Amino acid sequence: MLLRSICFFTAIILLVGCKSTSSFVVPPEYYAIDQQSLSSHVHYLADDALKGRASNTEGNDQSALYIAEQLASFNILTLPEQKNYLVPFKLKKHSSYIVGNNVIGYKKGTDKANHYIILSAHFDHIGQKGNRIFNGADDNASGVSGLLEIAKTLAAQETKYSFIFLFTDSEEINLSGAKAFTKMFPDIVKQTKVNVNLDMIAGTNTTKQLHIVSYKINKLLNQSNASLFKQLRKKSAVKVKKGFNQSRKSLGRNRNWNIASDHGAFYKLGVPFIYYGVGEHVHYHRPTDNYENLNKKFLWLASNTIYQHLRFLDKHIQ
Ligand SMILES: [Zn+2]
Repeated sequence: MLLRSICFFTAIILLVGCKSTSSFVVPPEYYAIDQQSLSSHVHYLADDALKGRASNTEGNDQSALYIAEQLASFNILTLPEQKNYLVPFKLKKHSSYIVGNNVIGYKKGTDKANHYIILSAHFDHIGQKGNRIFNGADDNASGVSGLLEIAKTLAAQETKYSFIFLFTDSEEINLSGAKAFTKMFPDIVKQTKVNVNLDMIAGTNTTKQLHIVSYKINKLLNQSNASLFKQLRKKSAVKVKKGFNQSRKSLGRNRNWNIASDHGAFYKLGVPFIYYGVGEHVHYHRPTDNYENLNKKFLWLASNTIYQHLRFLDKHIQ
């Protein structure tokens, strides 16, 4: 009797509470991403001290070590049969060969351990020209920071699929890190359901929407789940827009978004992908792409949005 009364009164309080606040109840995982840690990653990676994180520089090595330290602190594993998070590869820069380092973390799935969802974000940028430092705060300290916090959040819970957290080097040199990954781990690529790539997810103070470009996603979701995913995108923490309508005129050239970033390496092998990014803006590949000009609030909301989409995909893709 007592329990029933308590339940009754609790129900009344909850109903009144709901009515007086908002008719749209935000699910608890909506804002699962730690805003402060997110800002501190982006602050560290976009600092002048790292001198723009160009491949084969000290600042790039330091960025790779920072990411590896973070993965270790989240209890994320190294890739099976790899001793280290850092996985080196050779690439050609101008006329000579240099060594790049992808940083790779792994989380085992519960039901579909032999199938993968690969999350990627490149940590390199274009470095320095004379004494001008290109910090690449949005491109792509933003995506790396979002991916780190998503990895931390996913590490604390069960996922159906195995997740690979792929922080690529040398994206700015012809997607070399992502291409090296697909060459080194063909068996993983064969078993990959989808690559979700984050590149420039913060934008500037005028950024209003997150763009999404995808390939073969409807093959992974049945009709009813595809429509649920569409609904989820519509009520995301940020406005999500499918595709880009940046014209040849506004960009000065026609960009093929299927190969505009690391997801291109997966696309070329027929692997489904979803790419998240704000598109080019006034600070793109300029020294003004720095921490001060970054839209930190948008970065946080976009990271929450992507995290929630990932939870959905892990649960529903087949
Ligand atoms: Zn980029």
